[in-house]
Amino acid sequence: MKLESGGLGASSMADGSSRGIGPIILLGSPGAGKGTQAKRIAERYGIPQISTGDLLRDNVQRHTPLGLQAKDVMARGELVPDELIYDMVAQRLRQVDCDPGFVLDGFPRTPAQAGWLDAFLENEFFDNRDRPGRCTPIVIRIDVDYNQLLHRLTGRRTCLANGHIYNVYLQPPRVPDTCDLDGSRLVTRDDDRDEVIRERLTAYEVQTKPVAEYYERQGRLVSVNGDLPVDEVTELIRLVIEGHRAARADSF
Ligand code: AMP
Repeated sequence: MKLESGGLGASSMADGSSRGIGPIILLGSPGAGKGTQAKRIAERYGIPQISTGDLLRDNVQRHTPLGLQAKDVMARGELVPDELIYDMVAQRLRQVDCDPGFVLDGFPRTPAQAGWLDAFLENEFFDNRDRPGRCTPIVIRIDVDYNQLLHRLTGRRTCLANGHIYNVYLQPPRVPDTCDLDGSRLVTRDDDRDEVIRERLTAYEVQTKPVAEYYERQGRLVSVNGDLPVDEVTELIRLVIEGHRAARADSF
């Protein structure tokens, strides 16, 4: 299924009726806007945003054993081996704030990860009556044109203190190289350098596209047009989520 246009303005109000929204999976290539949209979903439904990229970067910064193993792989733009990711994701999903649901951004990234996630949710969520979020994940892919992706990624700058994101072409800071919100310096992430960007886009084509196919085969994939303005994409995603909730409510 593909949703093309919504048009209403975005709302970032927490949605009080969020109990048991369940897992939401955002798919899309690097630069598709998964992080931005995941934050908005998290805010609206009062659920945590879980970004495996952020979790890994945190491990790298803290020099944990996982961080030490992942650092060079990430700097080359390649995918961290699946076995290193599973423990980290399992630990995070077991935390109590995930019970009503969560939004995954950057995971699963291989068909093996998708299979692992299905098995994990089946064992730990669906069988557990105390976890209200036990529902089949809503899977949404954000589609963006390749040239647009390059523009977004090469222009991306991240603030050192809090990870606020800018784009020198599309959303420049008021003062060059300085975060509007906390005044810290803006930097190009190691893996946002040109040659690494191409590697990341290739990794997506080869390893992550089959994840969408995995969900498509099961009839669980909905695509939205990520070339649209960011608020319109947010609205499309909201419509998909609300559609799923309405369908679930009908089936009870
Ligand atoms: P991201 O911030 O999602 O673009 O992720 C940054 C980098 O972290 C990726 O280029 C990979 O090296 C690594 N990474 C993030 N999520 C995963 C994942 N699910 N599986 C393997 N590697 C990952």
